Order: sequence, then structure tokens, then C-alpha cells
Amino acid sequence: MKVLHAAAELFPYVKVGGLADVMGALPQALSNEGVYVRLLLPAYPALMKVARIYGTHASYPDLMGGGSARLLLADVPGSVPIYLLDAPGYFNRDCGPYDEWGDNHRRFSALSWVTAQLALNGDAEGMRPDVVHLHDWQTALTPVFMSLSGSAHRPKTVLTIHNLAYQGVFPQYILDEIWLPHEAFHLNGAEYFGKINYLKAGLAYTDKITTVSPTYAREIQGKEGGYTLEGILQRRSKDLVGILNGVDELVWNPSKDPHLQTPFNIKNLKLNKGYNKKAFQREMGLNEDENAQLFGIVSRFDAIKGLDLVIPNIDYMVSLGAQLAVLGRGNYDMESAFSWAAGRHPGSVATFTGYDEGKAHRLMAASDVLLVPSRSEPCGLTQLYAMRYGALPVARKTGGLADTIVDVTSETLKDGTATGFLFFDPESWRLGEAITRAVSLYKNEPEIWEKIQTNAMAQHFTWTRSAKQYAKLYKSLLGQ
Ligand code: ADP
Repeated sequence: MKVLHAAAELFPYVKVGGLADVMGALPQALSNEGVYVRLLLPAYPALMKVARIYGTHASYPDLMGGGSARLLLADVPGSVPIYLLDAPGYFNRDCGPYDEWGDNHRRFSALSWVTAQLALNGDAEGMRPDVVHLHDWQTALTPVFMSLSGSAHRPKTVLTIHNLAYQGVFPQYILDEIWLPHEAFHLNGAEYFGKINYLKAGLAYTDKITTVSPTYAREIQGKEGGYTLEGILQRRSKDLVGILNGVDELVWNPSKDPHLQTPFNIKNLKLNKGYNKKAFQREMGLNEDENAQLFGIVSRFDAIKGLDLVIPNIDYMVSLGAQLAVLGRGNYDMESAFSWAAGRHPGSVATFTGYDEGKAHRLMAASDVLLVPSRSEPCGLTQLYAMRYGALPVARKTGGLADTIVDVTSETLKDGTATGFLFFDPESWRLGEAITRAVSLYKNEPEIWEKIQTNAMAQHFTWTRSAKQYAKLYKSLLGQ
């Protein structure tokens, strides 16, 4: 079975969020399950720098008005074979992949169109996938191009929603710029309140839809979680399935993590996690105090992440003797609010405004608690990493957070399944209650705390498990 994955991010080269982590791990896990996988990504400078190019598989004299382009086949360290869409007019840009470029509609329609051509016609060596697996709005037009091509041999398609909040919505007048057949522009297709919605179009034309947790698969069919697409998702309900993401053991393993001075495991947890805590407190300018309960945040600063619920709790947390370390960037008000809190509480609150992979690892290793108060969370990876590193999540019971964290209650303590603290209402005082529970257990019941930590560390959200489910889905599509 040959499967082509197309996406716009790939860890560690181009990463905005969890999508990159998925693309860095899932293809390899699928290969281990016997699926032959290739990727297709834009030839971003970060990828071209490390790519070993094998050949050119197609050339386009003028790709959607962006100048000439080529489809290359390459090897990139750590990845399965990868097609790179070398369209310098579109992708030879530093900065983030989707920063507010005025031509994003053409950049990602071009990516989708080329993916469709490869799927329908094969590459120069006649290699053609059986299944094309698309990820998020940036590649979502692929099934539309494929379906409307008139080709008798259309491979099957899977479209994964990594976050329904981002849909790729553009004004109608771009229709002629993106080579999309006008027949796609209808109520049950690309049309969206008089505009064009790439994700909605993909949802209408793809064979199967997946999202990254079973709870999120349910939530997005409701009014609150549907981001206006609940209608189409309800209609496609029998083709929609939630498959949880996993943890890449090669990247997130506390016993072999090159970002840590003192790696650790369940057996030497207390001592070695303590070393990591002190080292990180020093790194962040927090008071070096192994006994202070350290809360961490690693997140994009986006309204969806619910970090505004944390701000009113900071003084309270400090008054309880806790510390807070924040790693993130994004919304300016949020950046300022955390920096202001750090200024008010030197030694107890520290913030690093930016993106830093190594710091994220060290924060997980050092923290006792990771705060994940997301208003919506398709799967969430940080809570999985935190658990693996013995930091208990305090999280909102939504999406993948609800599917991966078992709340501390008298029953879950008794049956030994507890792994974190959940709250439901997106209110700061509700988060405050969950924080209070975490503080009180940490202070008063250290042995129970340690028991929960070891339980959390023993959770195995493996990519093997996810890959088996995707492989089963592909087989069902192919009638196998
Ligand atoms: P999302 O995809 O919505 O951003 P996820 O929890 O699925 O949320 O994935 C976030 C990924 O980005 C994780 O790998 C997390 O460690 C990483 N991350 C987020 N912010 C930062 C940051 N400031 N520095 C380093 N890594 C970060």
C-alpha cells in the first residue's frame, strides 16, 4: 500500500505547532507498519538546506502566476522520502510558513494542485499512491482538484483536521487565480458565506475525514465546537473518525533527552527531576528551591489556548508558594501580561517570550505541573510530553485533553489511573480550583503525588498505536 502525505509543516525544519510533530513521526510509524509512505511539502529554505535531491519529477512553467516551479524528490534527514515543491516565487521565504502573506491563497492552492497532479498522474518513474492523506486547510483543495479532474483513476483521499479553527477563508474574487474549477463553488462545496473556504471544500470532496482525538471528533459536530462547519461535519459523520496523536519517543524521552543535563526515568525520578528543576530555575532566573512547586506553560499565545484564564490566578499561585515558568509567543497582550507578572514577582514568575525547542524540553523535565487551560484542544501534545516527563497536567476537559488525562478523584486514586487535574468551565476561578487541588496534593500528600507522577510517566501514547489505526483506515478505503 502506497500512501502520499501532503502538509505544510515538518518537525524539526518548519514548525508552527503540533502538525509539524505529527508529520515528523507518523510517516515513520506507518512505515514500520508496512505502509510505503512518501511526503510532499513546499521546498522551504530550511528543507532545501538539508535535502539531498534525487531528481526532478515534474516542471511547471508558471504555477498559478507564481513563476516556474519543479517537483523534486529528495531525502531529508529523519524523514521518509519527500517530494519538495520547489516554487521559489511562493516558498523561498524565511519567516513563518503562513505569516500574513497576501498570496497564501495561491501558495496553498498551488501546493494542493501539484499534490493532485502527482496523485492522478504519478511521478516520472510511474510511482502513484493508492491513498493521498492531506493535512489541514493548506492541502485541503487536493481532493477537490482530484475529483473534478475527470480522471478515471482517482486515488482515495483522507483529510485530517488538526485544528478546525484554521480553515483558509478567502474572498470569492480569488477563484480565478487558484485554478479551482468553478463547479466546486457551491453551497455543499467551497462556497462559504459568499467566500471560499479551503477546508470546507476539502471536507466535501474527500473520502474520509479524520481528526486527532475521539472527543474532538464529537465536539466539531456541535454548534460550539464546529466553527460554523458543524453542518457539513454532521453530514459526513459516518466518514469521520478521531485518532489520537502519539509521542515521538526519539524526541520526547526523559531518559535519553539531549536537551537535559540530567536525564531521568521512573526509578531515579525524585532525585534527577530535582536536578532538572534547579537547573531550569537557574536558567529562568527563578529562586532555586527544589521544594517550590513549579508550574510550567509551553504554548502558542492564541485565544484558543485559554491562557487568559491563568493571568488572574498568578498572584494566588505565588501566594501559595508556587512558581510559574512560561515559554511562548504570539498574542501581544498575553506576552505583556506574563512579562508584567514576572516583573511583579521576581524569582517566582519567569517568562521567555519566544520559541525554543530545548527550553521546552527542560521546562517539561523541571516542572511539577503543566498548565493547559485550552478553550479548545484537538489533541494537544504538550500534556502528553508533560506526563512522559513526570509533570502532571492541569487542563481543561476538552478534546484530546479529555481523552488523554485521567482526573484525580478518590476513585481514580484508588484504582491507580489518575494522571492529572481536569476542570471544565472555561472560567479563571475554575482553573483556580484545579490549581488549588494540585497545590494541596503536592504539599500534603507527596507520596500520592509521586505515585501519580509514575503513573503519568508510564502512559504510552505511542505513534505505533495511531499508525495501526490509520493503516486500518487506508485498508478499509481500498476494500482490503
Ligand atoms: P498547537 O498545535 O495548537 O500549537 P500542540 O500541543 O498540539 O498545540 O503542539 C504544540 C507543539 O509546539 C508542542 O510540540 C510544543 O512543545 C511546541 N511549542 C509551543 N510553543 C513553543 C515554544 N514557545 N517553544 C518551543 N516549543 C513550543
